[in-house]
Amino acid sequence: MADAARRLGREAVREACRSAVAEARSELAGHGEAEQVLAGIPERALALLHRAEAPAYAAVLNAAGVILHTNLGRAPLDPGPAAPATGYLALEYDLGAGRRGQRLAPLRQRLAEVAGAESAVMVNNNAASLLLILQALARDRSVIVSRSQLIEIGGSFRLPAVMESAGARLCEVGCTNRTHLADYRQAVDEDTAAILVAHQSNFRIVGFTAAPGLDELADLAHEHDLPLIVDQGSGCLHDLGRWGLPHEETVSEMLGAGADLVCFSGDKLIGGPQAGIVVGRERWVAPLASHPLYRALRPDKVALVMMDRVLRRHQTGCLDELPVYRMLGLSVDGLKRRSRRVVRRLREAAVPASGCTTRTALGGGTTPDETIASYGLSVGGGQRLADALRGQVPPVVGRLVEDRVVLDLRTIPPDQDRVLADCVASAWAAIS
Ligand SMILES: *Cc1c(COP(=O)(O)O)cnc(C)c1O
Repeated sequence: MADAARRLGREAVREACRSAVAEARSELAGHGEAEQVLAGIPERALALLHRAEAPAYAAVLNAAGVILHTNLGRAPLDPGPAAPATGYLALEYDLGAGRRGQRLAPLRQRLAEVAGAESAVMVNNNAASLLLILQALARDRSVIVSRSQLIEIGGSFRLPAVMESAGARLCEVGCTNRTHLADYRQAVDEDTAAILVAHQSNFRIVGFTAAPGLDELADLAHEHDLPLIVDQGSGCLHDLGRWGLPHEETVSEMLGAGADLVCFSGDKLIGGPQAGIVVGRERWVAPLASHPLYRALRPDKVALVMMDRVLRRHQTGCLDELPVYRMLGLSVDGLKRRSRRVVRRLREAAVPASGCTTRTALGGGTTPDETIASYGLSVGGGQRLADALRGQVPPVVGRLVEDRVVLDLRTIPPDQDRVLADCVASAWAAIS
């Protein structure tokens, strides 16, 4: 108690004691064993203080084998980048002229360069990108979308709902499996504001399928002086083949095929903070940056500074300095060596762990049917062990395969291997 009072102040401790006494009273009024309840008061107070001190978002060890795990914050960031944003910085200040500057101006150029585009803007997330695009370019008009692309991304992003809330009319064309250029052509009329292509991020339609190429759609859009908008989603800038994944069309390939605007998330394959990025032709980007809604969707300084740092890594090709690409690039042999050390440590603590091959998914709605070979460890103990692992400090999130908990080491920072072993040992002891 004295220690807590030194750290948190007497007032906080007094409050916690009062609450603990109040809890004990109501328990005694019910059925409680007087002596036991009274003896428990200090513990109760400390538990309350502990809860008040604990961060709302616990840092976890992600051993689930999903690199961009939406429930665990998508792209992990290096701890460094936030630091320069905590003090004063030339955020909206033109240092040369000594007067007010434009908040986004310093970053727009870099965003555009990285994607190979003429111009760019950044907002809070990709849902906001679409909202802004549709409000600025398609309000009260219709937007043509294939029926195979009316997508739902986790966390209540549904394309038709976003379109409706932006005041754009959805003009559906084609069928779930097959949409032809002629379907788009027939749908264009004087009410049309744009053609929208949404990437089928988290699912695949296979078999008897057809879809026109982006270049064909771009030609059609441009014949009618309309923009071709692509919701690319993941922010794929590099050939994923480099990491043993199938090639996905990159943002610059889409622009090269004639897309006028391409939007994507900042916290998927860009590997940055949560953000929505729109790149494309200046003619179509300019109305977004000057739209009144932009002020409500603009990112904060911490996100801007982090994004700048991440984009420089893409620009200079130092991708290994971004955790997402570092994890993708780890060799199975290296993971095996780490696994052996962790398993040895666990065996010493009498935990029956063993090394095992596993597969890592990229996640974040990218390459849904592909995984890469990985290595980790597995421990029997089923759901009970999985639950106990989430109760550790730090919590460990693994994956249940039949009655074994599989822990993929690819998504664990190597300097946390010891911590992981300690957590597994302590969770095992708790259920044994
Ligand atoms: C992820 C994704 C979104 C949603 O992006 P947020 O940044 O989470 O708002 C929208 N469209 C596609 C195609 C996506 O993959």
